[in-house]
Amino acid sequence: MDLGIAGKRALVTASSKGLGRGCAEALAAAGVNLVLNARGAEALERTAEDIRSTHGVEVTAVAADIVDEAGRARVLEAAGQVDILVTNAGGPPPGFWQDWEREDFIKALDANMLAPIALIKAQLPGMIEAGWGRVVNITSASVRSPIAQLGLSNSARAGLTGYVAGTARQVARHGVTINNLLPGSHDTDRIKSLTQATAERDGLSFDDAARQRNAANPTGRIGTAEEFGNTCAFICSQHAGFLVGQNILLDGGAFNATT
Ligand code: NAP
Repeated sequence: MDLGIAGKRALVTASSKGLGRGCAEALAAAGVNLVLNARGAEALERTAEDIRSTHGVEVTAVAADIVDEAGRARVLEAAGQVDILVTNAGGPPPGFWQDWEREDFIKALDANMLAPIALIKAQLPGMIEAGWGRVVNITSASVRSPIAQLGLSNSARAGLTGYVAGTARQVARHGVTINNLLPGSHDTDRIKSLTQATAERDGLSFDDAARQRNAANPTGRIGTAEEFGNTCAFICSQHAGFLVGQNILLDGGAFNATT
């Protein structure tokens, strides 16, 4: 399917690896020029070069912490006005409710609520003026079905979800869509560290914890960054202009509900 977005320009934050990279790859395959970002310059440059040579699109790489105000300003300056914004950042650590203090919540809110809101706010005026724009926020399946040990993530992402629900409906008439893409378990470094934490908590080997995790999913496996990225690219496509303010769950059917 021609997504109809060749030649457009996208900013994908936190995208040297994992789901952010999956989104960047799929957009590049559709002919979209990219601004990529991560903190670690080496992996970021490698990813940027891989994408350039595979897809022949322009790729600008900005090594910066997207949660930090100065880092975010550098990314936004390098990006200028884009047509497509995919927001992402690392997720907060797992833990227990009694251990989380105010500063832990502030860190989680900064990373997974206020950073994406700042990026959206910076890009919306230009998108509205152009009469076209796509924003996709990578959030989490925990928005639909909270994960007990990820209370910091559950809390911060709930805030972003509320913001998007209202804002998406304020800007839709200008041809700008904002949606959230909710990953269940996907094969990335993040899921490896969460599986390791589960293994340690339950006294299992990593492989046994991974087997149990996979067996619990209706598909018997976890998702890939490629599948995730292709879904993101479709949401950013010309075909998805009527998709507004949605929380799209990509979890292999793990969340058991009729609607
Ligand atoms: P990942 O494999 O750990 O990759 C994270 C990427 O983000 C890396 O490129 C990392 O590079 C970059 N990054 C992290 N923090 C950053 C920051 N402050 N500024 C700029 N770049 C940053 O993670 P993932 O699995 O793709 O997860 C992406 C998001 O989806 C996370 O918020 C995660 O909580 C959420 N999620 C993932 C899953 C899953 O199963 N994978 C499920 C639910 C939710 P640097 O470290 O070099 O900065």
